[in-house]
Amino acid sequence: MSKALEILADNGLRKTVMRQGILEIFLDSDIAVSQQHIETSLVNQFERVDRITVYRTLKTFEQKGIIHKAIDGTQTPKFALCVDGCTEHAHHDTHAHFHCDDCGKTYCIDELEAPKVKAPSGFKVNSTHLVMNGVCDSCRD
Ligand SMILES: [Zn+2]
Ligand SMILES: [Zn+2]
Ligand SMILES: [Zn+2]
Repeated sequence: MSKALEILADNGLRKTVMRQGILEIFLDSDIAVSQQHIETSLVNQFERVDRITVYRTLKTFEQKGIIHKAIDGTQTPKFALCVDGCTEHAHHDTHAHFHCDDCGKTYCIDELEAPKVKAPSGFKVNSTHLVMNGVCDSCRD
C-alpha cells in the first residue's frame, strides 16, 4: 500500500483519487505548499480540479491532524505534513517556520520550537508562532 493510502486508511478517510493526489504532493514536498500550488500540481494529473474540493480536502486533512498550517507571516496560507503525534483536533506543531524572501518558499523547522511565553495577566494564549524570514540555504548558494 502506498504511503498516501496508508495515511487515509489510518485516519478513517475514504480513498478518493483527489485525496490521494493531494497527499502525494505533501509527501513529495519538503516545503510548505499553498492551495494554489496544489491546484497547479494537480492539473497535470486530473482533467479538472475543483477548487472547493481541494479546499475541503485541506480542511479535512487539517482536522484529522495530517497537515498543519505553516504560519509564515505572509497572506498566503500554506500547509505541510504533520510530524507524528498530531491527532484529530490536537495539533502539536509548535516548530518554527522559515519564509525565504528570495524564493518565497516556506520551510518547517522541526528542530526549533516556539518558546513558551507568559501572557499578560488577563490574557489567554491559544497558540504561539515562531516565524523567521530571510534567505534560505538554496538561495544562498
Ligand atoms: Zn499537526
Ligand atoms: Zn530561498
Ligand atoms: Zn510546519
